[in-house]
Order: sequence, then C-alpha cells, then structure tokens
Amino acid sequence: MKTLTLLGSTGSIGTQCLDIVRKNREEYRVGALTCGSNVELLSRQIEEFAPELAVTARAEDAAALAKKHPRTQLAWGRDGLIAAARADCDMVVNALMGLRGLAPTYNAIMAGHDVALANKETLVAGGQLIMPLARERGVRLLPVDSEHSAIFQCLEGNEGRQVRKILLTASGGPFRGFSRAQLAKVTPAQALKHPNWSMGQKITIDSATMMNKGLEVIEARWLFDVPAEKIEVLVHPQSILHSAVEFCDGAVIGQLGRPDMRIPISFALAYPKRLASDEPGPDFFGAAAQLTFEKPDTEVFRCLKLAFAAIKAGGTYPVVLNGANEVLVELFLAGKIGFLAIEEILDRLLAKHVPAEGTDLADILAVDEKARRDARAEALLL
Ligand code: NDP
Ligand code: MG
Repeated sequence: MKTLTLLGSTGSIGTQCLDIVRKNREEYRVGALTCGSNVELLSRQIEEFAPELAVTARAEDAAALAKKHPRTQLAWGRDGLIAAARADCDMVVNALMGLRGLAPTYNAIMAGHDVALANKETLVAGGQLIMPLARERGVRLLPVDSEHSAIFQCLEGNEGRQVRKILLTASGGPFRGFSRAQLAKVTPAQALKHPNWSMGQKITIDSATMMNKGLEVIEARWLFDVPAEKIEVLVHPQSILHSAVEFCDGAVIGQLGRPDMRIPISFALAYPKRLASDEPGPDFFGAAAQLTFEKPDTEVFRCLKLAFAAIKAGGTYPVVLNGANEVLVELFLAGKIGFLAIEEILDRLLAKHVPAEGTDLADILAVDEKARRDARAEALLL
C-alpha cells in the first residue's frame, strides 16, 4: 500500500489521479490533499479519502473545513503546501499549476520523497536546482506530462545507448494552420477549446500559443539531460504517438496510446510496475488509422521559438519566460490583452533580461517575482 500526498487535488490532473486511487484502493491511500479555492470539492475529497492533512489557499477556508472534518488536520497557504510536501508518505504527486509548485517539489525532495511531477513549471524555472538535488537525495522524479512519460518509457532499457534526438510531439492546439492575422483576433473562449485534451485553463492557453510545447522542451532538457538542439518538435494532430526517441543507429522507439492523462499518471504512481485498467489502447482501424506529422511553424507560433532561445541562453532566462507567461495568460483570459501580446511582451522581457547570478530557491523566486511585475507593467503600456 502506497501513501500519496496529492498537491492540487481539485485540478484536472488531481481529480484524474484520485480516479485512479478510487479504482485501486488496495494499492493506494491518500495522506494529504491540497486545493486552491475549490473548497467544496476538497471537502468532498476529505470525506471520501480521509487524509491526515488537508490544505487550502486561504486561512478562513481551512478554519471552516476544520470544523467539518475534525479527524483531518487543516493547514493553509504556502506554508501549508510545504508542510504537505514534507509530510510522511511514499510519493508526492505535484499537480499544482504554475511556479507555486516549485517550492513544494523542492521540499518533497529535501524530505526524501519520490515525486510524480505534473507541475512542469518546477523544471522550467528550477531545473538546474531540482535535478542535481534529486540525484543527491536519491529520490525519483517520475514525469506525469504525457510526452515526458513517453520519453521516459522509450529510454527504459536503453541506458548508456547514444540518443540522436528526442522527438517531442505536439497536437498543434486549436489554432493549427492559422495565420498571424487570424491569431490576432482569437478570443479566450476559442483558445480554451482544445481539440484532444481537457485540461486546466492555463495549460490550455499555453497549448493554443504553443508555449506549452516550449515549456516541455525545457522540461525534457532537464529531465533527460539532453541539449535543446537534440529536441525536435513534431506536430501530430491525432495525439496518439506521445513522443519518441531516435537512437544513434537511426532506430526510433515511440510510445503510443489514446490521449488520456490517466495512463501517464498511473504509470508514474505504479512505477516500476504497471497498473491494469479496462481502458482500450488506440483504435488503429479508427481514430488512429492515420497518424500524421508536420513541422511546427515557429514564425506563426513564436512562443515556441522564444522557449528554445530561453533554454539556449540558459541561467535565469527560462525563469523569466515562465513567470511572465503565467501573468500574460491570466491577462489574456481576463480580456485585458490580445493573444499575440503574450509573445510580444515575452520577447521584449527576454531581450531586456539581465541574468541573475544565484540559482538557489530564493534567487529563482526573486527573478520570477520581478518577471511578473515587468510583464504587468508592459501590458499596461499596450
Ligand atoms: P488545474 O488548473 O486544473 O489545477 C491546478 C491545481 O492547483 C488545482 O488543484 C488548484 O486548486 C491548485 N491551485 C491553484 N491556485 C492555487 C493556490 N493559490 N494555492 C494552492 N493551490 C492552488 O491545472 P492542471 O491540472 O491542468 O495542471 C496542473 C499541472 O500539470 C500544470 O503544471 C500543467 O502544466 C501540468 N499538466 C497538466 C495536464 C493536464 O492534462 N491537465 C497535462 C500535462 C501536464 P483550485 O482548483 O482548488 O483553485
Ligand atoms: Mg504534455
């Protein structure tokens, strides 16, 4: 029986993770759950999974839940998340959205816990801090992101063999094939309609700008210790090939499956085993009969180009890209800036960035804070 701490239990990945726990009660139990503002759902999850600890974003929500659930300890805010990340368990599942996931990942590793990592922002901003720390502490970082789970699976059994390229697949999002003129006019409602995946709002907008793929290139760079030059993005609209690895002899190993996040989540939870499920594989005579591939158009989707530039520049550039992007996505969703303003402002901020020296947690958080302030200030100038 594995005890899980689930950070972000009320989100898209969090609720799918609990679906897996629900179906595999003899394998998993939940020790801690955390939410942001969806207190009603957290309350139902406490009822069902009886964790020892539950965490809300706001103090008043924690106080209200404490009255309702006397057997669960309640905590709140950033300190609450860190307490959850450090609490006794067999694995921390980090399904938080955004950079707020970095400090909990750091603390989970410091406490010696394996981490199933959905929170890609942890590695985008903190890869150079987190990867050596995980090695030093001897903890496993198991990717939940479907592409990274695929690459991880393709590399298994191939340790020490020379990799020529990582082939990172992308659906292309809702605006695949659009021109710049068309992109200039898209609305949040259109951007929130992803063709293949149902996800949280932030990652859905990132998929529409293709920043999600940019963040994933950076995530892959750290997880698999490959330079960005060896990572190639393939637009694959059917989302059946989840990514692949090309080896030095020209052989390619890929991982396929239906677009269902419960597959990579359960792979991470059960590693090194696999959990049995009733879900079918791809329908090769139906939805998966035709698998197609295209080169991404980085002149139209410039966020992808900016992400490659940020990781090549290294240091704190990806921190700026990530933090500013979070703010700009919020502003776009609130109708305050247009779709193309996201990449325009990111381009300006990266050009102006003066790399910071330190790379410890506090340094990264300080660069992130400044990037957020700068992004807001630039947006006001539009
Ligand atoms: P969601 O927005 O659906 O969920 C985010 C979680 O974070 C929710 O539990 C939310 O709580 C919580 N949260 C938000 N604000 C706060 C806060 N201030 N304090 C504490 N907790 C907070 O995101 P997703 O599940 O889509 O994504 C999570 C991560 O997984 C992201 O890094 C994403 O890139 C990655 N990912 C997601 C995929 C997907 O299919 N969804 C696929 C691959 C990667 P609440 O709702 O209660 O406010
Ligand atoms: Mg992904």
